[in-house]
Amino acid sequence: MPELPEVETIKRSLESRITGLTFSGVDLFTPKVVRFPEPRDFIGSLTGKKVKRVGRRGKYLLIHLAGNLILAVHLRMTGKLVCLPSGTPPSKHTHAVFKLSNGFELHFSDVRRFGRLALLEAGRLETWPGLKNLGVEPLSEDFTRGFLKKELKRRRTKIKALLLDQTFIAGIGNIYADEALHRARISPEKPAASLTPREVARLYRAVREVLEEAIANRGTTFRDYVDGMGESGTNQESLKVYGREGKPCSGCGYPIRRARLGGRSTYFCPECQKSRPIL
Ligand SMILES: [Zn+2]
Repeated sequence: MPELPEVETIKRSLESRITGLTFSGVDLFTPKVVRFPEPRDFIGSLTGKKVKRVGRRGKYLLIHLAGNLILAVHLRMTGKLVCLPSGTPPSKHTHAVFKLSNGFELHFSDVRRFGRLALLEAGRLETWPGLKNLGVEPLSEDFTRGFLKKELKRRRTKIKALLLDQTFIAGIGNIYADEALHRARISPEKPAASLTPREVARLYRAVREVLEEAIANRGTTFRDYVDGMGESGTNQESLKVYGREGKPCSGCGYPIRRARLGGRSTYFCPECQKSRPIL
């Protein structure tokens, strides 16, 4: 699933290509991917609108348009949004084609069909389900060590589950939660409130570093993810635990283990990420 670094990479790859262009039309092949408004209104309101800028919030890509409208895109598991020359034949998984004024078009495709589109008035962003309760952006100035320390203190949830909670921190999914906890040498099962000040400091640094490095590597591609130009990322080559069950830990050589935690696969090093008693 695309997480913050992947959506940020898509944002960066698209912004220089589509900012200032106008949507000249929309071919909607799978109406159910549009969550709001009704498909006819969706197409009607988009057509003729100029792209002012491309943004991101959590795992949402936000295309800001003239007329105070925002096209919100959530790629969920296997969604893609790729800029292609106009006239490119849609694949059998293409659900919408957004035609642009410069001879290119954006193809929204999704094998699993969980991805969703919505066209919202800018003022509605704060009340839109999924967006309204999003937590802090981990690469913003609002995410400080003090904030993390204070928030962890009052949460009994296991730290891995808390990192995945979008209402706590926006944009972290399974890959980067596992990578951050390994880098910080913290057991995924440790209750958030029991982290020592040193562990909090390590986790704070680790969260920012794994996300920044993944953006620098233009995202992690296992199967589906590509950026807005159809290019794969390279961060999968830098992962230390995620998807590496049985392979040696880069820190200690012990085999990486996989476990189920809260219904999700969790990769960790049982040696580097031991739950140590609090002294
Ligand atoms: Zn290790």
